[in-house]
Amino acid sequence: MLLATVALWPWALAQVAPDDPPPCTYGDVVVDVDHLRDHALVLLDTTYRLPETPDPSDLVRVREAGFASDHLVRAVVIDDLRALREDAEAAGLALEVQSAYRSFAYQRQVFDGWVARLGEAQARRVSARPGHSEHQLGTAIDLRTRGGPAPWDLADWARTPEGAWLVQHAHRYGFVLSYPAGEEERTCYDYEPWHYRWVGRELAGAVHEAGVPLRVWLWRHHPPQALP
Ligand SMILES: [Zn+2]
Repeated sequence: MLLATVALWPWALAQVAPDDPPPCTYGDVVVDVDHLRDHALVLLDTTYRLPETPDPSDLVRVREAGFASDHLVRAVVIDDLRALREDAEAAGLALEVQSAYRSFAYQRQVFDGWVARLGEAQARRVSARPGHSEHQLGTAIDLRTRGGPAPWDLADWARTPEGAWLVQHAHRYGFVLSYPAGEEERTCYDYEPWHYRWVGRELAGAVHEAGVPLRVWLWRHHPPQALP
């Protein structure tokens, strides 16, 4: 009876049994997407990547959201980023931006730096090869505690008051934690308690509600298309 039902209504099966992304492998498949207009739906991992793209024309300094640094994000992020910073501050917390927009060329320097420090295999667990980084979208941000060390120099930044607050509240400002703890097999990267990507409040709420990493949610709802 079940088989007959599936045969008659195959789309019903697709809705109740969404496909999970494939195991993480290393590839260089360029995604066919308008990465500026549809930034929130761009799935980037160790296989799928962006081409080398020009700097977005709407980059602005995070200083406009009240931070003390001059890192850049796309203007679409600023209002929610400011609201997040203000509410964290009202809760007695002090956030600062560690890193934000990174071009394809700069990401190459960043990745090569990790390779020099850790070797290629471990570098691939903690850093993205050029084109594969969410930072190239201009909507991903690494955060830290103001006056504190780089967050990756701590055992678990999410155990600090600032990091813990973000775990609880970031989605309300449109941000998702791209690489949560315990999800390394599905995110393709080591746990990064400092790395948040802005996808807008509606989508961030949906991802938070689903309780899955962004890569899994996007694969189920907006699987990547390869550039022909
Ligand atoms: Zn990051």
